[in-house]
Amino acid sequence: MSSSATMGMSKQKAQLVEWAVVIGLPLTGLLAPDHRGTFFLALLVGFAGLSLTVTGGGALVTWWGERRVGRLQGVRRGSPNVAEGLWDTSVSMWVAASLLAWPLWRSWTGRPIGLVWSLDEAGGWIAIPQTLLGVLAIDAWLYWKHRLLHTRLLFAFHRGHHFYRDPNGLSGFAVGPVEALLTFWPVLFVSHPKALHWGPLYFALVVGFILLNLYLHCGSEITIVERLLRPFRLNTSVYHNRHHANAEVNYAEAFTIWDHLCKTSERDRAERG
Ligand SMILES: [Zn+2]
Repeated sequence: MSSSATMGMSKQKAQLVEWAVVIGLPLTGLLAPDHRGTFFLALLVGFAGLSLTVTGGGALVTWWGERRVGRLQGVRRGSPNVAEGLWDTSVSMWVAASLLAWPLWRSWTGRPIGLVWSLDEAGGWIAIPQTLLGVLAIDAWLYWKHRLLHTRLLFAFHRGHHFYRDPNGLSGFAVGPVEALLTFWPVLFVSHPKALHWGPLYFALVVGFILLNLYLHCGSEITIVERLLRPFRLNTSVYHNRHHANAEVNYAEAFTIWDHLCKTSERDRAERG
């Protein structure tokens, strides 16, 4: 057996872990001390909401993107993999909903959570720079998560996302359950009454992240959006599409700064030769 085969996780073993996440994560609701039915209701409501917004948004972006001329990878030769994208996105939204069910359960059972709607309750204006620092910290984690998923040991959990070599709107959230868990776990912070999140900014950031991720995978370029994002060092469709075409460069998720700091952008790789 080659060293790559022994070091990497087998497909069967990886699939077992993936299914353990899909089934085990919602079952953590059985650990709720009371109102367990409310937890499972929250799971279903959350899943319906995410399916409508994220999966539905992905489908819309796919419908739009597949009709564009001048796609980044040229005229599509193979299938746009719509059924696969719908299934993979739904599974990853199921994982997200299993996490979201915890803050929902706490809120619906009258327990305090970390979401507040006035800036005063959030601790005053200081909450804004604190939140932005939190965004940077989470994005650094997302970059390193992505790098880790590209190691031989863990690539089995990320291979499914690279099935979409020429991505569309339904590829953005089409990640395996383990990757979904590693991406969406920060939603659990909202459960903690001391981890204060100022609602208007928090929801603006969540919606912004969803829209950005849909754009990153849309398969084409919108000049004005590229021009708006680049000065903020935010990832773009042109930049991220290169990661799907060549999985060894451009690992950035929200901000491209991590690629520049760690010299993993396509330009850095080209300069090194
Ligand atoms: Zn990747």
